[in-house]
Amino acid sequence: MSTHSYILAIDQGTTSSRSILFNARRELCALSQQETKQIYPKHGWVEQDPEDIYQTQQSTYLEVLKKQNIEPQQIVGVGITNQRETTILWDKHTGKPIYNAIVWQDTRTSTICQHLKDQGHEPLITRKTGLVLNSYFSATKVQWILDHVPNARTKADNGDILFGTIDTWLLWQFTQGKVHATDYSNASRTLLFNIHSLDWDNELLDLFNIPKAILPEVKPSCAPYGFLNLNGTDIPIYGMIGDQQSALFGQACFKKGQAKNTYGTGCFLLMNTGKKAEISEKGLLTTIAWGINNDVFYALEGSVFIAGAAIQWLRDEIQILDHASQSETMAIAENEDSAVYVVPAFSGLGAPYWNMNARGAIFGLTRDTNKNQLVKATLESIAYRTKDLILAMQTDAKISIKSLHVDGGAAANNFLMQFQANLLDAEVRRATILESTALGAAFLAGIGAGLWTQDDLSQQKKFEATFTPQINEEKRQSLYKKWLKAIKRTMDWED
Ligand code: ADP
Repeated sequence: MSTHSYILAIDQGTTSSRSILFNARRELCALSQQETKQIYPKHGWVEQDPEDIYQTQQSTYLEVLKKQNIEPQQIVGVGITNQRETTILWDKHTGKPIYNAIVWQDTRTSTICQHLKDQGHEPLITRKTGLVLNSYFSATKVQWILDHVPNARTKADNGDILFGTIDTWLLWQFTQGKVHATDYSNASRTLLFNIHSLDWDNELLDLFNIPKAILPEVKPSCAPYGFLNLNGTDIPIYGMIGDQQSALFGQACFKKGQAKNTYGTGCFLLMNTGKKAEISEKGLLTTIAWGINNDVFYALEGSVFIAGAAIQWLRDEIQILDHASQSETMAIAENEDSAVYVVPAFSGLGAPYWNMNARGAIFGLTRDTNKNQLVKATLESIAYRTKDLILAMQTDAKISIKSLHVDGGAAANNFLMQFQANLLDAEVRRATILESTALGAAFLAGIGAGLWTQDDLSQQKKFEATFTPQINEEKRQSLYKKWLKAIKRTMDWED
């Protein structure tokens, strides 16, 4: 394999389609990005146009090729990563979607979920899928389309309709309708896939009233999937994986107990739990991390709704900073220990508290509280919420986390990363390439293409910065104790 070989990562996110080229040394060489249209037909409804998703993706991979000035033959493998759960149904014969993509954020099926909960179905669903019964996942979105688009159900029963998450839709388009498949990680987000038996689950299909014929074949995340035709050259597609799992892979968290946290608008924390699915006692999700070499790895997943968004709030609503990055210097300028605690529970608290009636609050204000303290406490809240999730994961999986791999926009904040290391009593390692999501798909494609092995990836992992704990246990405990007190006081603020 020559040094002129490249891997193409297709990264279809919620707000944009991106294509990224990596060379054989796994360096990022070129990136192209296009926004996708968001459609909000009603309050709580979020849709996208599947054709727009495909076309923006197509124009970014063509552009990235031009940018790097390479021939299609130099691309030895393609990896696809994608926004998860978003649901598309299309006509198998014409390839036309029968409805817009219903995006993961869409809550139109909350009442269907509530109804199934009231009937007592949730424990069975959680046991089989590792998920909670929520409109976020694909099953009730599929059901909604089948029930609301004229003739959809009859066509589906006759085998004329296909279902796919974004990975499946893109693969079907790339292979001109030849391949209808998904990978374990994406299948595990549908509420229809049994993560233990690794099969679509007949009992769940009956419960959600979904015909099996519309479902894609499920394959390992690293496997030959078919070919993407690039200007007349067939390029093999070797990897498919959901975005958060891809970031875990891109951070080379291949071993049990390794975890990554992505600090974006919200935080997404995933911990590799090895070949065992750990069902959470604390309201975390159990999900398939990836399938590779005849093995399936599992992960525990938790998210913080408001992370970087709290810094946006300081900037846009409170207006005490102009740029998110200013928060670092302001927090560092305040060298006293925080007496102030901000709990940004703007839309309730997720795992492990699950108190949707909690609301944001500021505690510990005194006459001399200043804006630096407020900024510092807001940054600290992101680290405290991450610690809440990590403690829950450690208890669920009976594993202790020694280091946390980090990426995402707010991971650039050195104050936040140092505070995170202090609070967790663990090393915080910031990736050199912050595009961990695309990197994960590229890693899988490169393994498939024989460019590198998983061992190469573990050994050569480089960190741009490592933060080590700098406070003692007594201090750590006292800081966190106060946080738990603050959290408690925000609960059930709304009746
Ligand atoms: P997303 O992918 O969710 O859009 P990004 O990974 O691009 O998010 O990160 C953007 C978020 O990170 C914003 O909410 C922003 O407020 C926050 N952010 C960006 N830079 C910093 C920084 N230096 N310090 C703290 N927060 C930051």
